[in-house]
Amino acid sequence: MSSHLSQTKPRAATASSSGNTWQAEMKQAIRSATELCEFLGLVPHEVGAQDNDFPVFVPRSFAQRMELGNRLDPLLLQVLAQSQEELEIEGYVTDPIGEEAAKLAPGVLQKYSSRALMITTGGCAVHCRYCFRRHFPYSESPSGIEQWKPSLEAIRADRQIEEVLLSGGDPLILADVTLSRLLTELADIPHLKHVRFHTRTPVIIPARITPSLIKTLQSTRLNIWFVIHANHANELDGEVLMSLSQLRKAGIPVMNQAVLLKGVNDDEEALYQLCKRLIDVQITPYYLHQMDPITGAAHFHVPIERGKELIAAIRKRLPGYAVPRYVQELSGEQSKTVIA
Ligand SMILES: *Cc1c(COP(=O)(O)O)cnc(C)c1O
Ligand code: SF4
Repeated sequence: MSSHLSQTKPRAATASSSGNTWQAEMKQAIRSATELCEFLGLVPHEVGAQDNDFPVFVPRSFAQRMELGNRLDPLLLQVLAQSQEELEIEGYVTDPIGEEAAKLAPGVLQKYSSRALMITTGGCAVHCRYCFRRHFPYSESPSGIEQWKPSLEAIRADRQIEEVLLSGGDPLILADVTLSRLLTELADIPHLKHVRFHTRTPVIIPARITPSLIKTLQSTRLNIWFVIHANHANELDGEVLMSLSQLRKAGIPVMNQAVLLKGVNDDEEALYQLCKRLIDVQITPYYLHQMDPITGAAHFHVPIERGKELIAAIRKRLPGYAVPRYVQELSGEQSKTVIA
């Protein structure tokens, strides 16, 4: 669908700088730590690279935003499988935030009033090493209209639910036809008002924001909101910013959530630059998450005291709307817990 449109529409919105469609970017993604190191001119054993059962998955256009030969590149650290992921660290578990207990039906989580989260697919446009869902039993999660029926029925049955969050995995790795059918089903539920896409795809594969996707998002009665996920200003290059501006021009509000990660954005200048670059294209920094204590991600831990200092420091340099709420997910609470 999008491939034929890509020949007639401006390149910025349809294909990456390499001219690839988003589907081609997914197919050609880097799939091992060794391959990623070779791409960047690094020697795997020198940088602690080591594959494990959460496979490396990095589209080449994202790897191109990393600095050649820099083992500490803030984008590389987020996606390179490393031997330290194998360490067993006390307090780090596979389901730190009680997702198993929050299931409303297969594929829907409800933790907070008035909103429910649909796991639309297990797939993502990139594999982030700190991901709190890296141990989630995705194979048990439904993906596709037929399999979503129980989720849709559960949402229809609860008239308190006004907003559905489409998450996963990442809803934007679904084809436009599939998304379009899902939006049609959701729009048919009278008490629903909002659909919120939680997606990292526009940051990883900006070519995903095609005219056909925008048309799909504009053809529903529901209010569409986007929460993207960027952790470092280097993720937001010209092509990404152009794709995000297509969303804004289509009238879709875009917000960002980031995770506070050691070596990636745990210093004042990195966090400041991230927030500044976001507001320069009218994207609101929504949340800065304290990382969940997930097995395999302990090397990214930043103490809460340090996070508070960082927020206080950037608050002195930015307008109020550019400072994200620093939050933590504690199981059993009625909302995310605001730290600062
Ligand atoms: C984070 C989350 C939400 C959304 O919370 P907001 O504070 O509205 O952004 C909803 N459902 C679940 C299960 C969540 O984890
Ligand atoms: S894109 Fe989001 S859900 Fe997917 S691996 Fe990264 S953090 Fe996890």
